[in-house]
Amino acid sequence: MGAKLAKAAEALKMEDGARVTVRGWVYRFRDLGEKVFLVVRDSSGIVQAVFSGEAAAKAREADVEASVIVTGVVRSDSRAPGGKEIVGEAVEVVGASKNFPITKDFSREFLLDVRHLWVRSRRMQAVLKIRHTVFGALHEYFRRSGYYEVQAPMFITAAVEGGATLFPVKYVDGSTVYLTQSSQFYLEALIYSLEKVYTIAPSFRAEKSRTRRHLTEFWHCEAEVAWAGLEDIMRVEEELVSYVVERVLDSNQDELKLLGRNTEPLERCKPPFYRVSYDEALEILEGKGFKVAWGEDLGADEERALVEEFDKPVFVHRYPEKAKAFYHKNDPARPEVTLSADLLAPEGYGEIIGGGERIERLEELLEKIKRFGLREEDYEWYVDLRRYGTVPHAGFGLGIDRLVMWVAGLDHIVDAVAFPRTIRRVYP
Ligand code: ATP
Ligand code: MG
Repeated sequence: MGAKLAKAAEALKMEDGARVTVRGWVYRFRDLGEKVFLVVRDSSGIVQAVFSGEAAAKAREADVEASVIVTGVVRSDSRAPGGKEIVGEAVEVVGASKNFPITKDFSREFLLDVRHLWVRSRRMQAVLKIRHTVFGALHEYFRRSGYYEVQAPMFITAAVEGGATLFPVKYVDGSTVYLTQSSQFYLEALIYSLEKVYTIAPSFRAEKSRTRRHLTEFWHCEAEVAWAGLEDIMRVEEELVSYVVERVLDSNQDELKLLGRNTEPLERCKPPFYRVSYDEALEILEGKGFKVAWGEDLGADEERALVEEFDKPVFVHRYPEKAKAFYHKNDPARPEVTLSADLLAPEGYGEIIGGGERIERLEELLEKIKRFGLREEDYEWYVDLRRYGTVPHAGFGLGIDRLVMWVAGLDHIVDAVAFPRTIRRVYP
């Protein structure tokens, strides 16, 4: 009888006696003399194959991470991972793997040096599958909610989020341009055409401080909506985040389990999220022994302490003017604060979204650019948007790597990305 080509996970579901061929990589290798065990890993999972006699001699050539094609008969065995194993008849070594370098050193730095090989690990595989679900869910949410997907350029000429983190690039004509920190301004231009827009793209920031939640290149999901205010955009954000979390819970139970993620906090993640004002946040923090001067932004430590008080994500709204970039609209009811909100993830994770209402009035924008000590000529086309049919509008930027980090329960952002870029690392 011919053998059926199957994934490892499918082989574990086949009847005893079925003949199967699995293609994959040697995850574990054990030589007991008479018998050789190969645990074979593929994109679906792992399955154990056991060889004796002539086939065992061949199996002995398959080192860890060698690529192999294994054929045999499925048999139940409670000792095997998944409760079944393949009684191997033949094994072909497609690509040898002498001295695979990941054996004893599992330090973060080493695993980052060999990230091109470590992406094969079951942990990374699980994270990458969750990441896949997250990206898909973001697109699904927006497309079902009437948004148009748009693309903004990566080469830009002026800062969105302040000059300190700009990456200069020498352009073709010898001038200096920059890598984009955010697609927001372009999305703002596009709402005059498409009204509700979103994009998923990298953003680049030359972050000077080393933290667990900053990359120099990160994936940014940004949305901008015409005729919307702060309340409207907060509702979009909580729906979006809940939708993504729900999709991960639906699709990635195995991966969450492999990562040891407690899913209870994720199951609670349903609208409405908590809302506290910046002022209330300072009060809570004061009660916990933190001293934040009014006007300062909240740092990672403050955010961690604040979210301890909440069992779901929490919005902190109405940050003081000086804690937020110039384009944020000041609250007409209280001009010293902005109509802004950050969304903080629970369990110590902190900020995953920054957003709010944008200034729509020309005079107000020009005045604020001046007040912030910026040059009007750097923002010429952005200011222009207020000259021709301006509308109230709001939007946000969500850090996808941070969202993955929280959902997967990781303790460092570099583990949420296949090939992370940080201040100290642009390899592999
Ligand atoms: P932070 O205060 O943590 O540096 P930010 O206020 O600079 O964040 P925004 O400019 O509001 O962040 O960007 C929107 C979102 O993009 C953030 O909420 C975060 O999720 C993500 N983000 C910003 N900077 C980074 C970074 N360096 N690495 C990864 N994600 C980032
Ligand atoms: Mg920042």
